[in-house]
Amino acid sequence: MSLIHNSPLNIEQIERNFREIAPPLNEAEAVLESNRCLYCYDAPCTHACPTHIDVPSFIKKIASGNLTGSARVIFDANPIGATCARVCPVEVLCEGACVEKTLMDKPIEIGRLQRYATDYAMRNDKQIFQKGESNGKSVGVIGSGPAGLSCAMYLARLGYAVTIYDKKPLPGGLDTYGMAEYKMSQIVSVEEARQVEKLGVKFQLDTEIISKTKDQKPKTENQITFEDLQN
Ligand code: SF4
Repeated sequence: MSLIHNSPLNIEQIERNFREIAPPLNEAEAVLESNRCLYCYDAPCTHACPTHIDVPSFIKKIASGNLTGSARVIFDANPIGATCARVCPVEVLCEGACVEKTLMDKPIEIGRLQRYATDYAMRNDKQIFQKGESNGKSVGVIGSGPAGLSCAMYLARLGYAVTIYDKKPLPGGLDTYGMAEYKMSQIVSVEEARQVEKLGVKFQLDTEIISKTKDQKPKTENQITFEDLQN
C-alpha cells in the first residue's frame, strides 16, 4: 500500500504498465486458434522448439477438448511448460517456424495455446504423471531452477527418491526470481514446483549446499547428486 502511495504513478498507470504482455486465451479463442493449425506431419514448430514439444499433437488435443491430454504432451517434453509458454521468445522459435507464417503471415499462437492447456491442468490440480515404482536409489538435486525441477520430475517418474535443496525460500530458481512481472508472476513457477512435489519429491528450501573444499563439487547426503548450474 505504501509503495503505491509513494509511487509517482497512479494505480491505473501501474496496472497498465505491469499488465501481462500476452494475456490468456479464452475458450472460444483457444478453439478457434487450435483449429487454424495444419497439423503438419514433419512439424517445423516442433523442430524449432528447444524441448521438441510435439506441438501439433498438443494443439490437436485442445481442438478436440482434451486439455489434460494436451498438458500431458507439453509437460512430458518440458516440465516447465507453463513458464515457457509465457517467457519463450516464440517469435524466433516455434511461431517463427510455423508454416502458417509463411503461408498467411500470421503464425499459430503456439505460446498462448500452450499456456491455455497448462493453465487448465494446474488450475484444476490435475495429476498428470505418477511417481514410478521405487528402485531404492536416492538423488539429491541442488537448485530448484528449470534444470533442477526437470531432473527431479523425470527421476521421480523413474522411481528415484528425490530431494531438492535450494538456498532460496521459494522454489523455481530463475523462473521465480528472475522474470519480469509483466511476463510472468511468481505463482506460475511455484505451482510448477508443486506439480513436481506431487510426485513425492521433497523440497528443502532455505538450505544451501556448499563444497567442503574449493576443488570439490558440492555433495548431498543422497546416493547421487545433481547440480542445477543455472540456478
Ligand atoms: S508449423 Fe504451424 S501449422 Fe504446422 S503444426 Fe506447427 S503450429 Fe501447426
